[in-house]
Amino acid sequence: MSEQIRVRMAPSPTGHLHVGTARAALFNYLYARHYGATFILRLEDTDQERSRDEFAREIVEGLEWMGMRWDEGPYVEGGEWRSRGDFGPYLQSQRTETYRTYLERLLASGHAYWCYCTKEELEAERARQQEAKQAPRYAGTCRELSGPPEGKIAQVVRFKTPGGDVTFADVIRGEIKTDAALLDDFAIAKGLDVPLYNFAVVADDIEMQITHVIRGEDHISNTPKQLLIFAALGATPPRYAHLPLVLAADRTKLSKRTSETSLLAYRDQGFLPSALVNFFALLGWHPAGDREVLSPDELIAEFTIERVQKSGAVFDEAKLRHINREHIKLMDPRDLALALRPFFAGANLSDEVLERFAAAEQGRADTLAEMAAGAAWLTSYELPGADVLDRQGGARAHLEAAAAAAASGRLESWIAPYAEEHGKKEVYWPVRVALSGSEKSPDPVSLAAVLGPEESAARLAAAAQKLQ
Ligand code: GLU
Repeated sequence: MSEQIRVRMAPSPTGHLHVGTARAALFNYLYARHYGATFILRLEDTDQERSRDEFAREIVEGLEWMGMRWDEGPYVEGGEWRSRGDFGPYLQSQRTETYRTYLERLLASGHAYWCYCTKEELEAERARQQEAKQAPRYAGTCRELSGPPEGKIAQVVRFKTPGGDVTFADVIRGEIKTDAALLDDFAIAKGLDVPLYNFAVVADDIEMQITHVIRGEDHISNTPKQLLIFAALGATPPRYAHLPLVLAADRTKLSKRTSETSLLAYRDQGFLPSALVNFFALLGWHPAGDREVLSPDELIAEFTIERVQKSGAVFDEAKLRHINREHIKLMDPRDLALALRPFFAGANLSDEVLERFAAAEQGRADTLAEMAAGAAWLTSYELPGADVLDRQGGARAHLEAAAAAAASGRLESWIAPYAEEHGKKEVYWPVRVALSGSEKSPDPVSLAAVLGPEESAARLAAAAQKLQ
């Protein structure tokens, strides 16, 4: 019997949905869809001070916008939090009872103990160690206590780290070995109801029957701690795959601290979700061939964890722009018009005009926002002055002829032979400028195709009139 593969993305809602988080989520998603696994979203909001509801909502909104539908986990409907799946709740803040049970088990079995050392005592200890040029570590004061010392209050629960090595076979990086002594007796909770990260993750990964953990390389140092907790609880750990770091162009780490960029900022700049999915997938992975532009379905079909690289992946904005342009090109004009609509808010354009615009302009700009920015001729047309219209002389007659051709929808077949006869510059310039209202614009045939016969003829006739 083959096991049911279960993977999870486990973002912490302590900031905007960051690029690195979205990329880790995507690798889980592609993995899940490629291997027919269950894909789970868990919100890790145990840090009550830093976690915010608005960030949780942004994460859910951003991941959904990218098209990653999770099989289990929280989601928002009509402004309310809801949940699907049988292993919930999927918000750590609602799982306190589970953590309490697991903590009590670890305390009862002697794998964890209460520590009564105060912050001041620990600081003094650290200062002593520093003076003696020793590595700072917990001295183990409370490790073997049989009960609370007189007048002392429990501060944290510590894990009783055993000696020896902790070894695991990372799916991407191979064997990783850590000397457990370096891990210290780390704190796993601040109280029975206040679990800390490494412990809560393990309790949840057990409860949610996670089989594969795919996450950023920055978590490698947490893995041995988590493995020790799994062992102490007598549970089988999942397999781990740590993704290479995403680096900024200067090869420094692209992190919540070094990059302000939230995923939704890309949406607002007019990047397509399919393009971001494509681009993020290439941050540490590439398909067998040398293709760079792939649809989400193609990525799912091609994605295998064996093709994930070990070395850092550079976030190349120029490549993202290129991929976005290619995805815009591949879109059905009707869908592109829908995607463009928010970028034309306030402009009174019919669906037909926007669709014709999409068809004529797709692939000429990198983003939807840039497409819209180059469309002043469509949204805020103003008839140019006579001096601009008639730079070469004789413009009026050409504009009148063009207006007649446009009115009967023949501008495209009419213009080339006419210009051949009367001079290219003399004809194309006034017609284009009259149609666009601008000295810089697409060619007149493209403009007329978008504007339609009526509007094109009206603009051309008004321009001719201006020259009377
Ligand atoms: N909550 C962690 C984070 O946001 C991820 C934990 C994990 O994937 O194990 O970085």
